[in-house]
Amino acid sequence: MRALTISRTEVLRSYRTASLRSYQANSDIMEGWVWHGARDSRECAFCWSQEWSLHGLIEPFASHPRCRCSPIGRTVGWEAILGEKGRGIPDTRPKIEKGEDLFEQLPDERKRAILGPAKFAVYQNGELKLEDVAGFRRDKKWGLVGYERSLRDILGPKEAKKWMEKALNQGASNVGKAESPRDRIERLIREGKVTQDVVNEAERLWRERLREGVRMPNGEVVKIALDDLYHAIVDPRIWRHPDRIERAIANVFEIRASHSQRRQAYSRWLEGATGQLAALVLEKDNRLWSVHLIDERRLQRYTKKAGEVLWRQSEQQ
Ligand SMILES: [Zn+2]
Repeated sequence: MRALTISRTEVLRSYRTASLRSYQANSDIMEGWVWHGARDSRECAFCWSQEWSLHGLIEPFASHPRCRCSPIGRTVGWEAILGEKGRGIPDTRPKIEKGEDLFEQLPDERKRAILGPAKFAVYQNGELKLEDVAGFRRDKKWGLVGYERSLRDILGPKEAKKWMEKALNQGASNVGKAESPRDRIERLIREGKVTQDVVNEAERLWRERLREGVRMPNGEVVKIALDDLYHAIVDPRIWRHPDRIERAIANVFEIRASHSQRRQAYSRWLEGATGQLAALVLEKDNRLWSVHLIDERRLQRYTKKAGEVLWRQSEQQ
């Protein structure tokens, strides 16, 4: 894993260095570079704090290991290139935004996930700005490196401890209140991981084709409650094609025993010329617990670990 981190970081670093050099070489038309992050759930608080910040051409790109951000060159305005003639030309360059403002627009759950519970609590309380988490240090090998400062570092040990305990207690009071499948899907919509359209489409399909249950080739009917649907559509390969739930059940070729009186079922079908494989988990009352698309290797791994064969499609059928 470490070797992978180093090689990936090296590749990105040489790419960034090359980018920065070419911006510098074109200093007559380049004004600087803009920090551009992945803007997904894996982006760290440090990188969020740098998002869309404008840097001078000679400033180094102070990223950290595993950072996936890159410097995007920013041209000078038309007036700087064309002089008087450029004055009336509208500025079509992307607007420079502040990482702080972009971050503020994220749903609370995402902010909490990025900052962690304690920093998020301080942030919500208005005592922490995103830029406070940005730390920089000189590294012999990597040069200027950015990192996320600890709450202790930002607030001092006494204040940090207070907030960490507070966040811990808040977390504890949430324990036991398990998130319902409906709440979970609503959270995923808020976090931008699933869209409302996708959920609407899956619900429509459920009303039309799944709510009465789907028959497996062995004659048993698998029941699917709306909550089971919300479970199943968390896999993108299912929510992009919710019809696969029905196909997976209708094409089961083997059922095996599993733990807690559950059963595992495997199915295979064709979509155009492409073969699909799925693994299903059935609850003891025949409710669909989960459905995932798998590949042959995973199927072999699953069947090796699974219990005895309870039913298998015969060759003649
Ligand atoms: Zn980054």
